[in-house]
Amino acid sequence: MSNTKIYKLEGKVQHYTWGGTDFIPALLHLTNTDKKPFAEYWMGAHDNVPAEVVLPDGSKQPLNGFIKQDAAALLGSNVNKRFGRLPYLFKVLDVKDMLSIQVHPSKKAAESAFAAENMKGTPLNASNRNYKDDNHKPELMLALSDFWLLHGFKAPQALVTILMQTPELQFLVPVFDGKNYHALYELVMTMDQHEVEEHLQPLLDRIVPLYEKGFLNRSEEDFWAARAAKTFCDANKIDRGIFSIYLFNLVNLKPGEAIFQDAGIPHAYLEGQNMEIMANSDNVLRGGLTNKYIDVPELMHHTKFEPVIPDILKGTTGSVTGETVFPTPAADFELRRLELKAGTPVALTAATAEIYFVYEGAVKASADAHEINLEKGAALFTTAGASFTFQPAQNALIFRATVPQ
Ligand SMILES: [Zn+2]
Repeated sequence: MSNTKIYKLEGKVQHYTWGGTDFIPALLHLTNTDKKPFAEYWMGAHDNVPAEVVLPDGSKQPLNGFIKQDAAALLGSNVNKRFGRLPYLFKVLDVKDMLSIQVHPSKKAAESAFAAENMKGTPLNASNRNYKDDNHKPELMLALSDFWLLHGFKAPQALVTILMQTPELQFLVPVFDGKNYHALYELVMTMDQHEVEEHLQPLLDRIVPLYEKGFLNRSEEDFWAARAAKTFCDANKIDRGIFSIYLFNLVNLKPGEAIFQDAGIPHAYLEGQNMEIMANSDNVLRGGLTNKYIDVPELMHHTKFEPVIPDILKGTTGSVTGETVFPTPAADFELRRLELKAGTPVALTAATAEIYFVYEGAVKASADAHEINLEKGAALFTTAGASFTFQPAQNALIFRATVPQ
């Protein structure tokens, strides 16, 4: 291995159907004439979709294999001992159509459930496979645009209020009984499909025409319920995930605001663009608003049945000039935002293997005699302990993936 400490990194696009067609192609300077959905851009070392490191001779190598060659040196000995791999996965998301309602397992639960599915012989890529790896997946997302999501169960009073305000859902008030999140969620997730239709058809008959006429607002649950009906439901089957839109907090983040999703917190992204950083995992248990596999007992088992007051994070000032830190309880990752001024160089030292994503502007990264030009949409990979300098040719906005220091 050479002494190089900084490398250009090329991520991988995921073309999930819910993605937008313009945002990520524009960011990456790609054309998208056939209007394919560009949902996510992955910068990480997940074994299924590793990014590629560009070596000084121009050749490319998958990041997972690159790190394995000398994990202790590249990750730093602490991170290598604790995780044995790049602990985080860093992404850009463009959500045009809402994503499935989901919950992520805890680390312990993921380890045993992954082993159990392996024992059963369920292939890793099977559609009914819940666990793709043995890891937990806490997530932090930072809004790049006005962003809408569902996040955790509403507080009791807010929940009763929305159920009372929605005539078709008033039957749920006695089930909830002011506190029983488990009974409420179990009922809507396990009732027969014909009962789902019985309750939701009148609701949709009332709100879809309002949605179509533009009378509903994004700050109303009805807006998203009507949109979900138009996105996911065929004529003979209404998606029961629509109930959840009313049960969970409807959250609006402004650009620069972030939110953390720990194991067990049900959530769903509804619309907008964000940067996301998470533990290196693809473990998702789904609860509706999807055509993908749903395992209700497994979902119930991993969901925390408690009210959540959304904690919108604005970040704290970091030690580097122009740096904002978004601390979370997760040891696997930390997101930082760097606002650099044209002509003012900034010196950095990488705490572990770090990834920097240039969201706006352009910078030159230099370490010793090695220089890399990074324009908007480019990413840099640095090894643990690398000392380098960013020289911004223009004002630049950079997102930094690291671990808590
Ligand atoms: Zn998630």
